[in-house]
Amino acid sequence: MHQVLLIEDEPEIRRVLRVLLESENYRCIEADTALRAEIETRSHKPDVLLIDLGLPDGDGLTVIRRVRAWSTVPIVVLSARTMEEQKVAALDAGADDYVTKPFSAPELLARLRAALRRHVSGAAPTSLLQFGPIRVDLARRESRGSGGEIHLTPLEYRVLGCLARQAGAIVMQRQLLREVWGPERMDDSRSLRVCIKNLRGKLEPDPRRPRYLVTETGLGYRLRPDEEARADAAG
Ligand code: CA
Repeated sequence: MHQVLLIEDEPEIRRVLRVLLESENYRCIEADTALRAEIETRSHKPDVLLIDLGLPDGDGLTVIRRVRAWSTVPIVVLSARTMEEQKVAALDAGADDYVTKPFSAPELLARLRAALRRHVSGAAPTSLLQFGPIRVDLARRESRGSGGEIHLTPLEYRVLGCLARQAGAIVMQRQLLREVWGPERMDDSRSLRVCIKNLRGKLEPDPRRPRYLVTETGLGYRLRPDEEARADAAG
């Protein structure tokens, strides 16, 4: 049973989240201030933090930074703020993922599961990816669909590999550029867009409506394993 620390100052939202999480067999601890959040994180060592950014005694961002200084616990931000700079700031501060209120229950649960999975699997990411009927083996650099082999370029495998290491989470555009193209090509967002477009053409059932390689506007991309695509469809 996983333990979630729920950091949220609005009692009604805490109540709704507690009911939802307990129905999915999570154990909940609650904190309604930034100060309590830090105390509870240290004393209970929860498996995952679900945190609201606007807290009465401080910014959730500060909590994220402070916790990140000593812990690798997965942190999922839950906030009404839709502004892109807030998302970037939360991810930069060390959050693993971001869910915007109003959220759908299946989506929130899928993000929590993904954050926990990434944490458990640690540095050993899966090398087998399933895109409907298409299977990609990142380690062997082989891709196969119902019609036989699919050719991906070395660059495309590297972009997929980078996304797969954080499957389910947002990977920032600048992180992809740095890791795949190198620090001197950080401005080359066009090459990244072209590469993603080509990957979608090869792997997505409907490249115009991507369900596996999802754009997070202003941030980057998210690779969604099948399990999460199903959860979203159900919601
Ligand atoms: Ca709040």
